[in-house]
This record gives sequence, C-alpha cells and structure tokens, in this order.
Amino acid sequence: MYNAKAYSAASATSPLASTTIARRDPAEHDVQIEILFCGICHSDLHSVRNEWSEFMPTNYPIVPGHEIVGRVTKTGSAVTKFTPGDLAAVGCLVDSDRNCPRCKAGLENFCPNLILTFNSPDTHLGGVTYGGYSDTIVVDEHFVLRVPPNLDLSGAAPLLCAGITTYSPMRHWGVTKGKKVGVIGLGGLGHMAVKFAHALGAHVVAFTTSPSKTGDALRLGAHEVVLSRNVDEIKKHTGSFDFILDAVSADHDINTYINLLAFDGTLTLVGAPAKPLGVAALGLIVGRRSVSGSIIGGIPETQEMLDFCGEHNITADVEVIPIQKVNEAYERLLKSDVKYRFSIDMASLKSE
Ligand SMILES: [Zn+2]
Ligand SMILES: [Zn+2]
Repeated sequence: MYNAKAYSAASATSPLASTTIARRDPAEHDVQIEILFCGICHSDLHSVRNEWSEFMPTNYPIVPGHEIVGRVTKTGSAVTKFTPGDLAAVGCLVDSDRNCPRCKAGLENFCPNLILTFNSPDTHLGGVTYGGYSDTIVVDEHFVLRVPPNLDLSGAAPLLCAGITTYSPMRHWGVTKGKKVGVIGLGGLGHMAVKFAHALGAHVVAFTTSPSKTGDALRLGAHEVVLSRNVDEIKKHTGSFDFILDAVSADHDINTYINLLAFDGTLTLVGAPAKPLGVAALGLIVGRRSVSGSIIGGIPETQEMLDFCGEHNITADVEVIPIQKVNEAYERLLKSDVKYRFSIDMASLKSE
C-alpha cells in the first residue's frame, strides 16, 4: 500500500479538495499508471453530489474520474500487455467477475458484478474504489487500454467515457458508409458522436437548440445542422434516418425524432433524463422503428474505438484546466459552459 495524492469530496455539499488516499501496490496482474489527464464527465458531478442516490448511493469521501490517460510506471510480474513507459488508459470499469456470459462476450460493461472505477466496492483494500482525480491508479491489466501515440493526451482522456458511449451504439446498430445518422444534443457526448459518424462514412445531421452551435457542428463533421425548434426544417427529414443518437439528458419530446426514422430505424438513448420520456406507440409501429439504450462499452470494443481514433486522429475538443479549478468547472458544466469537455492536467496536482 502507498499514499497517492487526490481530490475528493467529503459530502454531497462539500467542494472537492486536496487529500491523500491509499492505493494498493501492484500485484501480479496489475499495472500502475501515473495519471497525466483526466476528463470531467457529468456523472462525476452527479456522484459527488449524490444525485443518483436511489440506485447508486455515493460513499464518502469520493474521488471521481473515469476518463483516465497516463503512463505506466510499474507492472506486476505476470503483466504481458504493458511495460513501464507505455501510454495507458482506464475508463469506467476496473474489474468484473470475468466469468458471466457478458464478460465472456467482452461486454464487461453489462456484467452484473462489474466494479466501477470509483464508488464501487474495493475488493483489494476494502472501502470503495477511487477514480482518476489522482496522481496514480493501480488497475488489473485486463481493464487497461492502449493509447495510440499520435493522439493528443488531453483530448484522448474523454474518449474513455464520452467516446466509447457514442462509438459503441453506432457500431452495434451498423452505422457505415451510406447511412443517414442524426445526433441530438451537441455537448460532450454529441460532439463525439458527430465525429464518429462522420469518420464511419455516414451522412451526419446534427440537431441543436442553439443557433450559435451551427458553425461548430459543421466544423466537427456534420453535413447538415437542423435547429430543433424549427418544426418545418425538422419535418423535411421525416422517415429518412437509419440511426439517431439521442444524447440529451434534459426532458424532451422524442416522438419528434422517432418520426424522422426510416423503416427499421433505431433511436438510441445515451443521455438519462430524470423523468420518463413519453413514446407514442404509432410512431414505432409504423415502420417497425425501435427505441433503445446503450451504456459505455466492453473492453475489446473500447480498445477498438481507441485504435479507430488513432487511425482517424480523433480526440475530444477539450478545455484543459488545473485540478484547482475543478469546483469552478462543475458550476460551468451545469450551465453547459464548456466546449466540449474539461480535461484536468494532473501535473497541477504536484503542487498540492
Ligand atoms: Zn462518464
Ligand atoms: Zn461478468
């Protein structure tokens, strides 16, 4: 066991502050990583403030962060995938039972016994797992990803959650060249979805409520931008989409978008509005359309996504901040005042 520097919150109403946490010494299959950048995901904020208390109560103190990139500093004797000095990444998962049908299929993200990167039971040290707002982390090599060396590391960090969350459903529902893809909501998730859909060869239409985001949507790779309050503009796309990714976490009318799906088209939810969304059955029945959901991705697919990003030079658009600005960043996140993801430069933790 050794001490690591970190930022933690002591309660749902406390700000994040500098602290020291215990990390395990790397065992046989473990990789120790010096964290260089950690993205700020909206779920960090939900967990810190215990806003998901009904299904995932927060244990305090909490060290959030599951968009981690860094460099390997130590490896256990049985580690084969990494050597010290390698770039490495860790996403939302650090363990699972590795034995259930989901795990055997490489879908560890759907394992009933998955261990999340933070706020899950720590089977090694007791207590709960601590995330990436820290100088180091120790993770079993099965859950450590390789990072293509050409990627900017600050922008690569958000690929581990925002990236895989949007890449996985596009692969699952067959987004390829010639398909028409819609992306609703141009935030941390949506901006990645536009980049991926474009790189996969689809015709990409971005839906946004903000006219100010039109230029950005085109720059990110959208072929068309539709203002979602413009009913006439939306109606022109009726029955034409093979796939729509809905990345909106606020309450909204999804029937408008279901009606835009082509025969057999799918709308996939990756945002999680607090209130149930009403679905008009006729919109689904006519045209055998589907509404589905998706959450992050398994380890093999996360590696595939990172390799795809390496080939196409895809990273998130980030605003890099020192860890000392994290509480301010949370307030700005609540106002969607970021383009499009905060990435914490962990070198800033050294001065604490
Ligand atoms: Zn996340
Ligand atoms: Zn499993």
